[in-house]
Amino acid sequence: MKTHYGAYGGQYVAETLMAPLKELEAAYEAAKADPDFMREFGEILRDYVGRETPITVARRLSEHLGGATIVLKREDLNHTGAHKVNNTIGQALLARRMGKKRLIAETGAGMHGVATATVAALLGMPCEVYMGAIDVERQSPNVERMKMLGAKVHAVTEGSATLKDAMNEALRDWVTNCDDTFYVIGTVAGPAPYPEMVRDFQSVIGREARRQCLEKFGRLPDEAIACVGGGSNAMGLFAGFIDDASVKLVGVEAGGKGISTGEHAASINGGRLGVLHGAKTMLLQTGDGNIIDTYSVSAGLDYPGVGPEHCHLHDTGRAEYTVITDDEAIAAFDALCRYEGIIPALESSHALAEAIKRAPGLPKNAILLVNLSGRGDKDMENARRYKDAKKNS
Ligand SMILES: *Cc1c(COP(=O)(O)O)cnc(C)c1O
Repeated sequence: MKTHYGAYGGQYVAETLMAPLKELEAAYEAAKADPDFMREFGEILRDYVGRETPITVARRLSEHLGGATIVLKREDLNHTGAHKVNNTIGQALLARRMGKKRLIAETGAGMHGVATATVAALLGMPCEVYMGAIDVERQSPNVERMKMLGAKVHAVTEGSATLKDAMNEALRDWVTNCDDTFYVIGTVAGPAPYPEMVRDFQSVIGREARRQCLEKFGRLPDEAIACVGGGSNAMGLFAGFIDDASVKLVGVEAGGKGISTGEHAASINGGRLGVLHGAKTMLLQTGDGNIIDTYSVSAGLDYPGVGPEHCHLHDTGRAEYTVITDDEAIAAFDALCRYEGIIPALESSHALAEAIKRAPGLPKNAILLVNLSGRGDKDMENARRYKDAKKNS
C-alpha cells in the first residue's frame, strides 16, 4: 500500500498508533479484495444513498456564458446532500468487518459528523463526534442533526476550539480506545492508509462520471473541476480520469478575501510544508509552525491542510490548483440558482466559479465537468447574510 506521494504523506503519529494503523491497512487491503465487501458497499450506495448520481448539462448557464458546455456531476442528490456519505459508508462497513464496536470522528462545519452519525445509525453503532466549541456555536443545525441521529457530540475547548483541536482530541481518543474503536476520517488526509482509502471510497464519483460522459457525449470531458477542502470530492472525481492524459484536472481552493489578505483556506496556493493530522502536507501555518485557522465564506472548506496526494499532483503538474474568492463563489452560487434551478453548496460553488471563468474562452464543443459536491440548503442563511453585508458596505 502507498504511504507516500512524492515528498508528502506518511504516518507521523504517536508510537502507540503504529499498530492500529498497520491493522487498518491490512484490514482494508483484505476488504478491497473481497467481492462480498465490495458488493455490500455497492448495494448500500445504490439502495440507501441513491446512486448512481446523474450528470446534468447546465444548458442555460452555458448558453449565457457563450463558450464551453458546463456539465454537473450531481453529488448534491445523494442522501444527506453531499459526497461525504460515500466515504463514511465505506469506513463504517470496514469498522464492522474489523469487529470494532464504536465510531469516532472529528468535524469542523459538522458535515462529516452528520455523515458519520448517519451511517452509525444505519449500522447500529455508537458514535461520538469531536467538534471545536466555536464550531459547535457556529454550526448549531448540524449539531442538532448529529444528536437527532443518536450521536454524542463533544465540544472541544482546547486551543482555538476549532477543527484542528477536534482532530487532536479524536486522535487522543483513538490512542486510548483503539481496541474497540474505529476512527472515521472525513477527507483524503490523515496518516496512511487514510488518504488512499478515502480516495478509493470516493472514486465512485469519477468512475460513474467517466462512463456517463462517454455515454452522453461519446467522449471524455476536456476538464474535470472540483473544489478542494481536504480534497476528497476532488480526488474522487480525479480518480476516474487520472490515466486520461487529455483530461485536465483542476482543483479549486477557497481564496476567502484573497490570498494576500491572509484570510483564506488555500493550503496549496498559500501554505507551506509541515506536519498535520499525522501526515506531511501543505498547510496554513505561522512562521514558527502553529496552525492558522482557515477563513472562507464556505464552512466546509475549513481544513487547514490538504490531502498529500493533491500536493504531489500539483508538484508533478498532473493537476492544476487555482483559487476562487468568496465574492466569486457567491456569484456562481447565484448563477446556478437562477439559470438552472439548483441551489449548490457554497463549497461546490467554488468549482463552479472556476468553470464560469473558463467557459467563455473555450469553444462550444469543449466540455467542463464540474463536481457539484453538495446541495446548498445548509448555506441559505450564510449566503443571504453575506449578500446583505456586501449591500450595506
Ligand atoms: C466537506 C465538503 C467539501 C470539502 O471536502 P473535500 O474533502 O475537499 O471534498 C466540499 N463540498 C461539500 C458539499 C462538503 O460538504
